[in-house]
Amino acid sequence: NNPEQLIKNADIALHEAKKQGKNRCEYFSSALEMMFQKENDIEEYILSALENNRFYMTYQTQYTMDKKIRGIESLIRLCNDNGETVSPVDFIPVAEKSDLIIKIDDWVLEHVLDDTLELVSKTNNEITVSVNVSAKHIMSDNYAKAVIEKLEKRGYPAKSLEIEITEYCLLGNLNNAIENLTILRNAGVQIAIDDFGTGYSSLGNISKLPIDLLKIDKVFIDNAAENQLDEDFINIIISIAHLINCKVICEGVEQEAQLDILRRHSCDYIQGFLWSRPMVIDEVVKEIVGER
Ligand code: C2E
Ligand code: MG
Ligand code: MG
Repeated sequence: NNPEQLIKNADIALHEAKKQGKNRCEYFSSALEMMFQKENDIEEYILSALENNRFYMTYQTQYTMDKKIRGIESLIRLCNDNGETVSPVDFIPVAEKSDLIIKIDDWVLEHVLDDTLELVSKTNNEITVSVNVSAKHIMSDNYAKAVIEKLEKRGYPAKSLEIEITEYCLLGNLNNAIENLTILRNAGVQIAIDDFGTGYSSLGNISKLPIDLLKIDKVFIDNAAENQLDEDFINIIISIAHLINCKVICEGVEQEAQLDILRRHSCDYIQGFLWSRPMVIDEVVKEIVGER
């Protein structure tokens, strides 16, 4: 009805076109406007949470099949104004649409290295500490160099750090991703592919990457005890991992019956509520150092 509104709405469509990868058309709609508002609110919330220390890290233990500790995965949490915990599924996807994810990833890596340096040394560098890294970050210039600097600054053993990436990394600037991963791997850092089988798996690309660990997504194990096809998929993914000389871990293991299936198919490690939930670092230290 008026030029200001027209230009504002056009700007929302323009913004969406840029977010979707530029060089494309997007139409304005009221649904787009609502999504834009919601994402803007979340983005502002993330920025203020970074400034006000409202993020914190939790860690979930990973085990060998005979319940020895293999390592821990770091999982971010946000504490909202009411003191409630906000899950990363509610803010990471929004952060990934903008450069905020780079800020979050940097914050996470610094915190995880500081939180776990002592724990790693107490275990004679035997546990692996995993960090989730967004596809955008792994494709960016000089990512590997920045990680190595953070390790060196602390005297943190590179082999104790594992970077978890998803198959989305293979969709964008594959050359940059491979370069960063190769530099990290040569420095001793381990590389894991997260949520394997749910993204755009390209076996051709997977075999090009320097990988140490494949993580089988929870969706495959969820019904494996009742559904033979799901069990067959698990079996095949484990075979693929072993074929390319990777270890394999299954995420989201909640039942003994699922554990039996994974043992039967020679899975290497598991992670799931059956044996552990994400905990704050003090609890992890108690569990791991207490265990030794
Ligand atoms: P993910 O990396 O695949 O992490 C595994 C998720 O499964 C975690 O959810 C974990 O709490 C949950 N989980 C583990 N075992 C079980 C189980 O037995 N049952 C069920 N129902 N769930 C289980 P969370 O912590 O909510 O994280 C969700 C996703 O958010 C992560 O998936 C990861 O993609 C992302 N994320 C978490 N922390 C970070 C981070 O620090 N940086 C980035 N870039 N992404 C993160
Ligand atoms: Mg992960
Ligand atoms: Mg996963």
